[in-house]
Amino acid sequence: MFKNNNPWNLKKVFDMPQTCAECGQPYELEPGFWYGTGYVSYALSVALSVTTFVAWFVLIGMSTSDNRFFFWLGTNIFLLIFLQPWLMRLSRVIYLYFFVKYDPDYQSKKPVSKKEA
Ligand SMILES: [Zn+2]
Repeated sequence: MFKNNNPWNLKKVFDMPQTCAECGQPYELEPGFWYGTGYVSYALSVALSVTTFVAWFVLIGMSTSDNRFFFWLGTNIFLLIFLQPWLMRLSRVIYLYFFVKYDPDYQSKKPVSKKEA
C-alpha cells in the first residue's frame, strides 16, 4: 500500500500509489479522505499509552513517593513520537478498511469506487 517500506523515511511516509497494484482499489476515496485518520491515530496513541502504562505498572511499578510516574510519562512521549510515522501509516490502513472491506472475490468484482467531489 506504501511505496517505501521504511516509515521512518519521513519524506516518503505518505508516498502511495493511486490504486492497489493487486486489485485496482483506489486509496484516496475523495479529496481530503485522509483527514479522518487523525481520529484513528489519536485512538491508537491513547491505546498505546494505556498499554505502556499497564506494562510499566506491572514491570516497574508506580508510586506517588518517587518519580516513576514521570519516567513513564517521558518514556511514553518518546515512544509516541518515535512510533508516529508508523502509527500514521497504520491509521491510513485502518481508516481505509472502514470504507473498503476485504473481498475474497476481488478478482471478479469492481473496486469500491471513488466518490467525486
Ligand atoms: Zn488490493
